[in-house]
Amino acid sequence: MSKVVIITTGGTIAMQHDSLTGAAVPAVSGADLVRAIPGLGSVCDLEVREFDNLPSPAITPDHMFRLAVMVRQYLARDDVSGVVITHGTDSLEESAYFLDLSLEGHKPVCFTAAMRSGDELSPDGPRNILAAVRVAAARPARHMGSLVVMNEQIHAAREVTKTHAANVATFQSPWWGPLGVVDGDRVIFRRAQLGRQTFLPHSLCKKVDLIKLVTGSDAAYLDFAVSRGVDGIVVESFGRGNVPPHVIPGIARALEKGVIVVNATRTGGRVLDEYGYEGGMLQQHRMGVIMAGELSAAKARLKLLLILSQYGPDGRPDPAEVARYFEHSM
Ligand code: ASP
Repeated sequence: MSKVVIITTGGTIAMQHDSLTGAAVPAVSGADLVRAIPGLGSVCDLEVREFDNLPSPAITPDHMFRLAVMVRQYLARDDVSGVVITHGTDSLEESAYFLDLSLEGHKPVCFTAAMRSGDELSPDGPRNILAAVRVAAARPARHMGSLVVMNEQIHAAREVTKTHAANVATFQSPWWGPLGVVDGDRVIFRRAQLGRQTFLPHSLCKKVDLIKLVTGSDAAYLDFAVSRGVDGIVVESFGRGNVPPHVIPGIARALEKGVIVVNATRTGGRVLDEYGYEGGMLQQHRMGVIMAGELSAAKARLKLLLILSQYGPDGRPDPAEVARYFEHSM
């Protein structure tokens, strides 16, 4: 029988309601989390490892980096066929994507979580863990990179996002849909993960800020980011990548200082240089702004952090190379 390692990081799946405040707080250990799930032991051999017990808004890129190192060690073992990571739903899509960019090889890594804690009516955690273990142990899940298994669906880490604050069907991959489903004990894939990329810096040694643009935005936050010494900035733009015109001088000053600027849209769909007005993506692209394709701004920020960190603490990034990493991926 194959072995799946379950690494627990925290989240609602490991929470219970506190008797004093009535609010959900971290409470359940990794071992307790998997102990009482009916049928789990007959899927495959299991090993449980507690990485941490954090609510996921407290997860940082440094946690993700350390998690990737731990996962790599498990995947290197011949007796391990895959890894399941339990995580809070709030930032799950970020950690899942970070690991997608940080792991090589064919073995599946499946993130799962819960929208309801274990002491609520109809908790979804146990069923999600069972489904995630089935996927991590399944041959068709190989070469699929980092996956998110929730509510019987299997999503690509790159595409998935949390779409609702409370509903158990919160994880969706807008426009693309899930890669597959878990139907009872069967793991069924309908599409593959294409064009994955891997970046393996020695440490996260660079600083990247994300700036959300809204109507009436100006250059103030870009100038502030540059003044605090960032190496990269992701701007979250409108539609095809267009930004308010008063942002443009801030982008120009950032580029002039050697800061890499990446543009990711708030809508979903591809950023593209098809609008030529002041603030349009064509103007930005000609200035040297990199288009993030279909990545959300949060995911583009993690990808830029990994890419820039590959150049080392003193290394200057080659903007054309950074652009190729973004623009030649999906
Ligand atoms: N706030 C929780 C967290 O992300 C939500 C959850 O896990 O569903 O840790």
